[in-house]
Amino acid sequence: MEDQVDEIKRKTDIVGVIGSYVPLKKMGRHHKGLCPFHSEKTPSFMVNEEMGLYKCFGCGAGGDVIKFLMEIEGIDFREALERLAERAGVKLINRRRDENDERSKMLEVLDLAARYYHWLLMEGKVGAGAREYLAGRKINTKIMETFNLGFAMQSWDGLTNYLIKKKGYKEELLEKVGLVSRKSKGDGVYDKFRGRVMFPLQDAGGKVVGFTGRVLPALAKEDEPKYMNSPETSLYHKSRMLYGFYQAKKAVREKKRVVLVEGQMDCISSFTAGVTETVAVGGTALTEDQVEMMARLADKIYLSMDADEAGSVAIKRSIELAEKRGLSIKIVQLEGGKDPDEIARNSSDKWKDLVEKSVDVYEYIMNGAFKKYDVNKIEGVKKITEEVVPFLAKIENGVVREVWAKRLAERIGVATKGVMAEIDKKISGKQESTNKDDDLEKDVDDKRVVKLSRRLIGQLILRQEAVEMVAPWFTGVKIAGAEGKLISWLLENRENEPVEDLVQKIPEELREVAGESYMAEDSNEVPGQKEVEEAAVQLLREIIRDRKKELMVEMNEARKEKNSEKEDEIFSSLNELNKKESKVIAFLG
Ligand SMILES: [Zn+2]
Repeated sequence: MEDQVDEIKRKTDIVGVIGSYVPLKKMGRHHKGLCPFHSEKTPSFMVNEEMGLYKCFGCGAGGDVIKFLMEIEGIDFREALERLAERAGVKLINRRRDENDERSKMLEVLDLAARYYHWLLMEGKVGAGAREYLAGRKINTKIMETFNLGFAMQSWDGLTNYLIKKKGYKEELLEKVGLVSRKSKGDGVYDKFRGRVMFPLQDAGGKVVGFTGRVLPALAKEDEPKYMNSPETSLYHKSRMLYGFYQAKKAVREKKRVVLVEGQMDCISSFTAGVTETVAVGGTALTEDQVEMMARLADKIYLSMDADEAGSVAIKRSIELAEKRGLSIKIVQLEGGKDPDEIARNSSDKWKDLVEKSVDVYEYIMNGAFKKYDVNKIEGVKKITEEVVPFLAKIENGVVREVWAKRLAERIGVATKGVMAEIDKKISGKQESTNKDDDLEKDVDDKRVVKLSRRLIGQLILRQEAVEMVAPWFTGVKIAGAEGKLISWLLENRENEPVEDLVQKIPEELREVAGESYMAEDSNEVPGQKEVEEAAVQLLREIIRDRKKELMVEMNEARKEKNSEKEDEIFSSLNELNKKESKVIAFLG
């Protein structure tokens, strides 16, 4: 498998793949274009052929060609690999051939079933009632096409006749994909979906993996459920399905947000109203897999579900999953209809407006609590705090958490400190930093070191001679982090090989840093000795400064402990550093 991944990557022309989504222009050693993952007017998106990597210096997106396909198409690793394998003419061998064959047979028969249902809806005489029904719900022909809607006629053997008698498929195959059920008496199978408007369930790549059928009101029978889903199969997993994802992908990517609704009709009506970044969970609670799918393309989820008690449980769960994945949640407050379907059908503008006016989830939770309890009474304040604080405690980002704590404090009329104390109580196990200023300062220092390190890495990759220029400066110096490791590695292992070969040699875990650093160097010139040494020495100066700060702290501690031996030791280290620093300063002038 590992070998095959490498083989596929080697045989794939990354510029060609990415170039089919983003116009790329060769600039120096890289190809450059407008980033497809965030909106920008001047290109900061780079692709490098030798490294087999892309990187956006605007939004940070980056990786290899597999990652690109996953992110741009919203598909998983497996699917991305399969597509590239096909493109590169590589046969994936790790899946057994019969398994492969079965999977493609299943997809084939599901696709054919979808076409059959679709034809009945669009052209069939029996589809007239369904067409009328959908027209009544303001679903036009174009939308029917977009979502590949269909109609299953009121018959026990419409589909079976077509697929088995006419097309020659086996009963077992139809059973396996969940289109038919076995007769309880006698032999044979019968159509599972009858008298229903059919919504094909498509995976992120657009392949039909199952169906939802909504009973046509005129044909409804009392003992039949309004909605019926395909059973779970090896192709269709409820927890990994987002209805409409395939159709919404492009808009989701562009707007960086997903409007999440409950049912298929909500999804289609919202889409029809012009909110094309809509997907439906399809009646299940949101799962981690679904959040993962959305997170590949978006950074915000707009929840628009019933805001009743059941709804708020769903919201709680959604917040947890989203926070874990770094997505923010907004709540679309439903007005002017019972669900998004009704609101959007009544007025596209109203629906669009509600989506735009959606409130941040924490605002929403606060509003709910303030509506329920009286903020003018002590008891009310207590209840409000009890309800809201657990949510705020879950916010991962400390700054964001404090912003919301402040808002809550303002609304209650107390100092932020008090609310923060309550939140801290809730956050058990997490050690909060006591001195934020120190942390912040360290953070800024770290960033500078990373930046300087990466510049040097880029030069070491670009010019083999740079190794010799730099090596003397770094004897006995340790640099922290992945960048440090990579610099040490390059100083030891960089030979006179072309960049493509060097990349293959770099340890896997350091390749990303290597690629990003290399691509950050977009000047077309090979750096001269002066430039290289300057980059090295500037980095060295930062490292020495950091190390000195650390040693000072250690020295103070040793002094307090009256550990004179240790004190001496640190003192001599400091002396060494000072000597090195004078050299550095002399060099930099
Ligand atoms: Zn970008």
